[in-house]
Amino acid sequence: MKIGLEVHVALPTKTKLFCSDSTSYSDEPNTNICPVCMGFPGSKPVLNKETLILSANIATALHCRVIERTSFVRKVYFYPDLPKGYQITQTEGAIGNGGSVAISGKEVRIRRVQIEEDPAKVVRGENYTLLDFNRSGIPLNEIVTEPDICSESELKEFLVELRSILYYQGIDIDREIKTDLNISLAEERVEVKNITGVDSLLKAARYEILRQGSLLEENQPVKRETRAFDEKSGVTVSSREKETEEEYGFIFDTDLTFYDTKWIEVKKPVIPRLVAEKYSKKYGYDEEKLREAIYLNRDNMDMLAYVDDGAAIEKVVNLMQKLRSKPTKEVIRRLLNSDINNLSREQLERWVRGEFDEPEPVNMDEVRREVAELLRSDPSLSKRYKENKNTVNFIIGKVKKKHNVSYNDIVGIVDSILSDNQV
Ligand SMILES: [Zn+2]
Repeated sequence: MKIGLEVHVALPTKTKLFCSDSTSYSDEPNTNICPVCMGFPGSKPVLNKETLILSANIATALHCRVIERTSFVRKVYFYPDLPKGYQITQTEGAIGNGGSVAISGKEVRIRRVQIEEDPAKVVRGENYTLLDFNRSGIPLNEIVTEPDICSESELKEFLVELRSILYYQGIDIDREIKTDLNISLAEERVEVKNITGVDSLLKAARYEILRQGSLLEENQPVKRETRAFDEKSGVTVSSREKETEEEYGFIFDTDLTFYDTKWIEVKKPVIPRLVAEKYSKKYGYDEEKLREAIYLNRDNMDMLAYVDDGAAIEKVVNLMQKLRSKPTKEVIRRLLNSDINNLSREQLERWVRGEFDEPEPVNMDEVRREVAELLRSDPSLSKRYKENKNTVNFIIGKVKKKHNVSYNDIVGIVDSILSDNQV
């Protein structure tokens, strides 16, 4: 099985790729528009330099070479979302070339990272079609992979890795990601175009694997074709679109020029997989837990910087799971020097806001006395507890409110008191 992807993500710029309109996509339809992004004859595009900086950084994070002089082409096709009759995109002059993304045990090669403009949004009703040009001209990066993905699980893993890398490049990964999926179980390649969102992409891939698999089982040929994914029914259907790559006309965009990229200062990229690996190796800590904590959470990633031993990392990972707000550097230092592992989520939040004092060392004898007292207040508890441990939840609640002690510690005390028949 061979799977290749063309993933489109919107760049986080304030203005569009070739004009100064806002990229805000929640505004009233057709309010952020001008002759350039409407494709009026005679309007001239002016490149937004910020997109070069962002794209060079993304390309580098995907281990691509950044081309020294980048250039644009017109991809000619006729469709209502592009009134000028072509989309401005990149081919040979693409900003990034020849990269890779590591997944378990292999690398998925990245053929190209190219800059292109988003077309207008098409809104279809029952017997009408509406166009919203707010989206027209929003800068995108199209990330093209080689067909190196060989299973559904590799596809899932690749998407997790790619999204986490893009997150650390400032991409809003909750915004819809549009993907073209190339998938072949035999010779002929099937392309499923314009899939919106990661969940739909996985569903479309799963459907194609089953569909092509059963055709092959019955010794029937898989046709080379373009298909569309129908979100409602969860199936792919043969699409009437006939274009293949060769049928598009690509011509150099003479409104634009060659753009030097040597002036761009590319930052050292954050590769979350490598960060998790590093901290896990260094401190013998569970890599999977670390990945979960940092893959899509910059605050958690920042907290790792305060870690200098295995015990500290346990505390920090605990914090990451419990905290909603980001603690300051000072608070983290205090937390790392305190006994905070047993604090409830509520107590921790109050602690971070400075409303909760240093947890006092727990007097376990006192805890034990209180538990015994509570058990004594209801003599039938002992019997009922043997049938159902939840009968002592009210004791645990009462004791936890007063003392910085864990659920399991209290259960342990209850068990030992009841087994010693001390009640
Ligand atoms: Zn515009």
